[in-house]
Amino acid sequence: MSEEFEVIVVGSGMSGGWAAKEFTEKGFKTLLLERGRPVEHGADYIGEGLDPWDMKFRDKVDRKLADRDYPIQKQCYAFKESTKHFFVKDTDYPYETPKENPFLWIRGDHLGGRSLQWHRQSYRLGDLDFEANKKDGHGTDWPIRYKDIAKWYDHVEVFAGISGSIEGLPQLPDGQFLPPIEMNCVEKELQGKFKETYEDRRLIIGRCAHLTAPQKVHTDLGRGTCQSRNQCQRGCSFGAYFSSQSATLPAAERTGNLTTVTHAIVERVLYDAKSRKATGVRVIDAQTKEVRDYRARVIFLCASTFGTTQILLNSTSEAFPRGFANSSDAVGRYLMDHLCAIGAVGEYPGFEDHYYLGRRPTGIYIPRFKNLRAQTEDYVRGFGYQGDAWRDSWRAGLARPGFGADFKESFKTPGPWKFALEAYGEMLPRADNRVTLHPTKTDKFGLPQLHIDCSYGENDKKMQKDMLTTTVDMLKELGLQNVKGYSDNEIPGLAIHEMGTARMGRDPRTSVLNGYNQCHDVDNVFITDGSAMASSACQNPSLTYMALTARAVDYASRQMQANLL
Ligand SMILES: Cc1cc2nc3c(=O)[nH]c(=O)nc-3n(C[C@H](O)[C@H](O)[C@H](O)COP(=O)(O)OP(=O)(O)OC[C@H]3O[C@@H](n4cnc5c(N)ncnc54)[C@H](O)[C@@H]3O)c2cc1C
Ligand code: SF4
Repeated sequence: MSEEFEVIVVGSGMSGGWAAKEFTEKGFKTLLLERGRPVEHGADYIGEGLDPWDMKFRDKVDRKLADRDYPIQKQCYAFKESTKHFFVKDTDYPYETPKENPFLWIRGDHLGGRSLQWHRQSYRLGDLDFEANKKDGHGTDWPIRYKDIAKWYDHVEVFAGISGSIEGLPQLPDGQFLPPIEMNCVEKELQGKFKETYEDRRLIIGRCAHLTAPQKVHTDLGRGTCQSRNQCQRGCSFGAYFSSQSATLPAAERTGNLTTVTHAIVERVLYDAKSRKATGVRVIDAQTKEVRDYRARVIFLCASTFGTTQILLNSTSEAFPRGFANSSDAVGRYLMDHLCAIGAVGEYPGFEDHYYLGRRPTGIYIPRFKNLRAQTEDYVRGFGYQGDAWRDSWRAGLARPGFGADFKESFKTPGPWKFALEAYGEMLPRADNRVTLHPTKTDKFGLPQLHIDCSYGENDKKMQKDMLTTTVDMLKELGLQNVKGYSDNEIPGLAIHEMGTARMGRDPRTSVLNGYNQCHDVDNVFITDGSAMASSACQNPSLTYMALTARAVDYASRQMQANLL
């Protein structure tokens, strides 16, 4: 069986949702293929609104079950009883790593992808990031600069709804923000102290994809104001945070131009050597294992960094013996994540008569301040921070021994104010950090398993060291007491920002995609998920995937209208 469309989009997560929305709104008949199950907005958020006592293990996952079926996913902070149905069962999704270089692949294969369970932190990259590879010689030069993508950041921010404050910082460009979420009293105090103490450092409110003041573009889709419940990773039937389900997919559906097929695992891209174009994709039905082909003029691969890489490497042909559009041999290489799980926590004295209301779904952010104008450290690039201030609640007493009325009473009194910062650092692209297909092992659908080989390089290790020292020093300088640093992450993957395995670049000999995310080798195939990234910067990356996708669709659709594609 073969069916024809104008456009095929593979993957319905953060980037695929955007590709589907943009193409259908421009009038193109679009097929959206998703390997996972359907998830209906609202109705399928089965953990939403549950109280701890509604769950057998009080929102923890049964340890035996987690150890047996989710040994990788359970390491993600968001993996809970109320969210675990949005994470894959590791036993069903095997992949390999060398023993000495483990990698944690956190994934959600269902309609909406990881747009459902993301943490919604949304930051632009700036020219500091787009020029970095060229300036210090690590990685290949990005084929775009900030001016090329700025209006696409505007475009996606307005539709997604990003709340934040205008700061005028060159290293973290401002955007089209909804009103910022409010800082609490200690964060406000520390914001002032940062300004007084450091010329180069700013503490700002986290920029996040939450509707603090919904506009018509949001309410038209039935989206409402964020209620500060901070249960977002269970799904939010108010549509108050951005996800494929709340925003891009309903926008695409209302055009009448979208066909969505779930349980459709794209196995390969089909290629015609004569016309040197892709003709469609081959799909395995996840329920019946039936194989079928779909045909289209243009194909957008948005299956996530590893999902897309797997499809590319599996699509070998006489023309592309190393994998689809891989004449450069860059497919699968230059894998990056962010350096994370390093930070510090301390107590902030005072403010004992202050508290806060609600469960705010974001914290504060400290934009990068190292190596801004010139290299001053023994490593290149830099890191930023996410963090927040809070008061210890009754939970702090859980590990405290005791009994009786006084003991019970003590739980009613909030503890001291605490403030924590966690650093997110830029990882350099290195050719040896590589994803390949396992030569013999396959999954239950007969698809070759991925083999992920990724380790930290010298620059990464030097930065990790400085991330810890700088955080501890900074908290002490700001007057925090009992400061404790931590450095937990020896295994890459846990930042859940994997990217870079089909990078953009100016030179077809060393990169896979041009400045419009179009394959150098096959002009009717575009890749706009994280695999396109030529460097990782240190900001959370999904907003950039969205902007690159909208920009690439704009380009492809103009080419299609001009009959050039
Ligand atoms: C707990 C958590 C917190 C996060 N917090 C943040 C944050 O604060 N800020 C941020 O920027 N990012 C964050 N992220 C990362 C963010 O979710 C990802 O960057 C983003 O979802 C990637 O978008 P994508 O379109 O590339 O992939 P995904 O959203 O993962 O979507 C890919 C889709 O493709 C499908 N697919 C894969 N292979 C195939 C195939 N062969 N055939 C058909 N379909 C296929 C998958 O099932 C999936 O639905 C977080 C992620 C997690 C899990
Ligand atoms: S905090 Fe906002 S986005 Fe998150 S679940 Fe509550 S209402 Fe929804």
